[in-house]
Amino acid sequence: MSFIDMRSDTVTKPTQEMREAMYRAEVGDDVYRDDPTVNRLEELVAREMGKEAALFTASGTMANQVAVMTHTHRGDEIIIGEKCHIYTYEVGGIAYLAGVQTALVSEVDGVMEPDDVEGKIRGDNIHFPKTSLICMENTHNRAGGMVVPLDKMKGVYEVGQKHGIAVHLDGARIYNAAAYLNVEAKQIANCCDTVNVCLSKGLCAPMGSVLAGSKEFVERARKYRKMLGGGMRQVGVVAAAGIIAIEKMSKRLQEDHDNARLLAEGLNSIDGVAVDLDKVQTNLIMVDFSGAGITGDYLSSELKELGILVNGSPTPVVRFATHYYISKEDIKSVVDAVHKVIKNNK
Ligand SMILES: *Cc1c(COP(=O)(O)O)cnc(C)c1O
Repeated sequence: MSFIDMRSDTVTKPTQEMREAMYRAEVGDDVYRDDPTVNRLEELVAREMGKEAALFTASGTMANQVAVMTHTHRGDEIIIGEKCHIYTYEVGGIAYLAGVQTALVSEVDGVMEPDDVEGKIRGDNIHFPKTSLICMENTHNRAGGMVVPLDKMKGVYEVGQKHGIAVHLDGARIYNAAAYLNVEAKQIANCCDTVNVCLSKGLCAPMGSVLAGSKEFVERARKYRKMLGGGMRQVGVVAAAGIIAIEKMSKRLQEDHDNARLLAEGLNSIDGVAVDLDKVQTNLIMVDFSGAGITGDYLSSELKELGILVNGSPTPVVRFATHYYISKEDIKSVVDAVHKVIKNNK
C-alpha cells in the first residue's frame, strides 16, 4: 500500500528526470574541485542567490554549522531567534562545533524585530563576549512555514551592517518564501551575507544543501566543510539532481501552497478541528485538535490505518506538509479521513 505521506516535505523522492540526470552526470573528485556537475550546481545557486560563490554540503544542518563556524570564533555570541532550526534542531552543534553561545530573540510568527536584534548586540566591555553573527530563518519552520516579510529582513540586515556583524539566513525553504512573496529568491538573499538553500525538502533532491556567500567566505567555509567530513568525491551524482531541483522544482511550489490552503480550509470546517488560516502561507499547516480532545499520537495512529502518515505528538497540535507527491485528490482523501477519525472518537 502506498501512503499519503504528509509528515514532511523531506519525504519527497527524486523524480524520474532527476534519476536520469544522476545516471548521466559527469563527475570528478570534488575535493580537487574536479566535479563539473558540482561546480555547475554551485555556480547556479550563487547566481540564483546573487552571491559570488557557493558550496555544496551534505545537508542543511551541515551548511548552517559550516556557516556559523566560518563567521565566528570560539567564545563569541550569536544573535538568533528562539525557535529557529539552528538553535532548536541541530543537536547543539553551534555550541559543540563552533563553540559559540547564543543571545536569543523572541519571534512572533517567525519574525524577529530589528530593534530587539539590535538590543542584543554586546558593547565594548572586558566582561562581554563578542557578537559576531545574526541568524534569520525564512520560511520559518517552527512558525508553521510562515514567511518573514522583506522589510523585517532588511531591518535586521541593516542592524548587522551598521554594527559590522555578519548576517546568515537559514533559507532551507527560501523558494517557498519567494513563491509566497512573489519575488525572486535573490531579493530575499539580498538581505543577508550568507544563505543556506536546501535541495532535499520540497525541491525533491535526494540530499544536499548549498551555502552561498562571498568568494572569500566560501573559500574559508570549504575548509570547515572538509573538517566536518563533508569533503565528498564524485558527488556530482547527487548534485545533478540538485540542478533540476533549482532550475525546475523551485518553480512549482505555489501548487504545494495551494494544496496546503485547500487542506487547511477542509480541516478547519470539521467540528473540533482548528486551523488559523491567516498563518497558512506556504506548504506547512499547523492543525489544532484540542477541540476534538485528541492528541497527535492518537490521530497519527488512526490515520495510519487509513493510509495517511503524519508525525505523532503528545500535544493536540499536528503539522501537515504538502509537497510534489501530494495531489489535490489526496487532500480530499485526507480531509475525509480526519473527519472519520473525529467522528469515530465521539
Ligand atoms: C530541514 C531544515 C534544516 C536542515 O536541513 P537537513 O538537511 O535536514 O539537515 C535547516 N533549517 C531549516 C529551517 C530546515 O527546515
